[in-house]
Amino acid sequence: MTTLYHGGVIHPWADARTVEALLVKGGRVVATGSVADLQTPGVRRVDLSGAHAFPGFTDAHVHVWKVGQLRTTLLDLREATSLDELSRLVQERHAELPDGVWLWGRGWNEARLGGSPTRALLDRLAPGRPVLLTRTCAHIHAVNTSALERAGIQADTPAPDGGEIDYERGLLTETAYGLVYAAMPEPSQAQFEAWILAGLEYLKALGFTAATDPAVDPPLYAAYRALDAAGRLPIRVNLLYIRRPDGGAATYPLPEKHVSPMLRCDSVKFFADGGLSGATAAVSVPFRETGTRGVLRFDTADLYDLACEAHVAGFRIGTHAIGDVALEQVLGVYARLLHEHPGGPRHRIEHFGLPGARHLALARALNMIVVPQPVFLHELRANYDRYVPDALAGQVFPLRAMFDAGLDVAFSSDGPVVRELRPLCGLAAGVAEPYVPGQAVTLTQALGAYTRGGAVAHGDDHERGTLEPGKYADLTVIDGDLFDTDPTNWPDIPVRPGVLADPI
Ligand SMILES: [Zn+2]
Repeated sequence: MTTLYHGGVIHPWADARTVEALLVKGGRVVATGSVADLQTPGVRRVDLSGAHAFPGFTDAHVHVWKVGQLRTTLLDLREATSLDELSRLVQERHAELPDGVWLWGRGWNEARLGGSPTRALLDRLAPGRPVLLTRTCAHIHAVNTSALERAGIQADTPAPDGGEIDYERGLLTETAYGLVYAAMPEPSQAQFEAWILAGLEYLKALGFTAATDPAVDPPLYAAYRALDAAGRLPIRVNLLYIRRPDGGAATYPLPEKHVSPMLRCDSVKFFADGGLSGATAAVSVPFRETGTRGVLRFDTADLYDLACEAHVAGFRIGTHAIGDVALEQVLGVYARLLHEHPGGPRHRIEHFGLPGARHLALARALNMIVVPQPVFLHELRANYDRYVPDALAGQVFPLRAMFDAGLDVAFSSDGPVVRELRPLCGLAAGVAEPYVPGQAVTLTQALGAYTRGGAVAHGDDHERGTLEPGKYADLTVIDGDLFDTDPTNWPDIPVRPGVLADPI
């Protein structure tokens, strides 16, 4: 079927250039231009009624199944602004759940609550029931005594490498979480599928047409493959497959590669350090308040070996690296990889939180794709004020410098680390809310990072990212003119559900 989109403003290159009409056949762009030129007899017409249509937006780093989990079975703590409010939510859920079942919540942030939940508090709120409350960053977890018992953790249990156990307070950091996770019942594949679909339907409703799920283990991969085989994925998904899961030295073998129009798995994922908002990123100058320097999760030689195996087998790599010490390690590993095994696919750095000038230049020299989260600048600013030392404050997500360095930049939300997944909120934060003065990006740069940048990071920029002939006719349709509206008002502009043109 041939379809003519008209009656609005079409931005084929996600910048200020516009055309009147878009002709689509078999799910792909045939041509863009004027209505008069593209009009053919029998064509189906879709009137955009004044809206602005862009190439489909990608959220290049969003934990899809966890977004779905928070929208269905998990206790959502992201709105809680005090420990009293958190307590009420936990008590309500405790009263609803059958005896003995784990109470799992996510989203607390001590900067909003005025403190972290403690083991003693959780023991009081849900006596006899194992409770796990994951911090908003997913790098720190609050547990009660019953959860520690089920995980076999006692006061003198040593922490696994790359993790910390604070038995007294009931806080588990980084890999120590694996001990508790292993003690929880394994979700069924049907449950994983339901979480994935809930997450993807939500992203589609927000206007996205593609997403990268950046930490996928074998059961989750099986669920994605089943959904793809059944034709049930509502938007295009790129997976970063985890090599070494939380909680130990075990390594998953490389996965079977899979590339279909809706699902792509040809990348692996490593976590080099923790997060900035919870002061667990690996940094060269101690964090304020905690006095700590974060955690490096890998021995450099180990990371190199695992990355090399993937690189040589033709896998793309996405490595989580936020602190300057982690960036140093990861860029060093990538540099050695490309020196000893030149060629191969391009690799990514997830977050790229505290790069100095040297890291920016090295990332460019290595042709890295970087995947930062502009919405962090809006939502996690109080945490940065609280923890980031003066010496590093000038390096917090310097988005403009990433573009100036010539890097390919893909924007993302890292949801559900943040509450706000709407694309225009990320766009507005990137353009109007830099942490470092002078580091705001232009609207065109930000749009590029959600469209072409997202496709580059996804690995399919030959198929998506602009509305040029031959590419997928994936559309993000916005009911307002971003170029003519103040950024503070962008979040109020409606975005229609993402459009993936019918492939028939
Ligand atoms: Zn993430």
